[in-house]
Amino acid sequence: LVHAVNVIKHFGSHQVLQGIDFDVSRGEVICLLGPSGSGKTTLLRLVNQLEKLTGGRIWFDGELLGFTERDGKLYTRNDRDIARQRAKIGMVFQRFNLFPHKTALENVIEAPRQVKGLSKKTAITEAMALLDRVGLADRANYYPSQLSGGQQQRVAIARALAMRPELMLFDEPTSALDPELVGEVLAVMRDLASAGMTMIVVTHEMAFANEVADRVVFMDAGVVVEQGPPAEVLLHPQHERTKSFLRRVR
Ligand code: ATP
Repeated sequence: LVHAVNVIKHFGSHQVLQGIDFDVSRGEVICLLGPSGSGKTTLLRLVNQLEKLTGGRIWFDGELLGFTERDGKLYTRNDRDIARQRAKIGMVFQRFNLFPHKTALENVIEAPRQVKGLSKKTAITEAMALLDRVGLADRANYYPSQLSGGQQQRVAIARALAMRPELMLFDEPTSALDPELVGEVLAVMRDLASAGMTMIVVTHEMAFANEVADRVVFMDAGVVVEQGPPAEVLLHPQHERTKSFLRRVR
């Protein structure tokens, strides 16, 4: 579903990604691990076209992201085309980023109404089903300020799902939460994984990675250091950088 080749990203003179090759199959759950500053967030943002590549290429669902290729030349896609590509990818951020002046339900129906042009009735029916799925049907008319962090994050997940994405990106979705609220968000993500959603999850939750990931990818200083099934990478890391990272987070 995702095929990334030699992905390079600079911010000014700072080279954040040094040539990443990265593949995700449909239905696969990938946990992306690595120390702060290793480039995990940047990689997610490139997949979702919130940042522009400095070098390399990323295909999503067989289509080149951001560019079209004709006669061996690359042309930048227009904004509408980029929006169409982005609509297939859901993203959940560390900070929940809900619209504060909209209720949970209004947050969830916003994008399907605006981007997909769904009727209000259909959008509400689908949104209520999603709020139910994340355990918040009874909070549909609450404003974000009336919800706990864990509840807000579950609304954010429902909101991303409302676009019926083919891929879900999670950027440290539990790291801004009080410890007692982490479990409810991870439970929703676990359900989503069991239902077959393709997911890339940046996380420091090693137990979650161990249990839910099909593959763990460990990054450091803008490169993929090693990757494999969690039982291999987390329990028997081959590289010193992975070993020292795991010693620190455990
Ligand atoms: P963290 O766990 O702290 O989020 P990360 O692995 O996700 O770390 P990134 O957020 O991708 O790392 O950041 C990688 C590097 O890129 C960092 O050194 C960061 O300061 C730098 N960086 C990220 N975004 C920008 C930006 N917009 N402008 C300049 N530098 C940036």
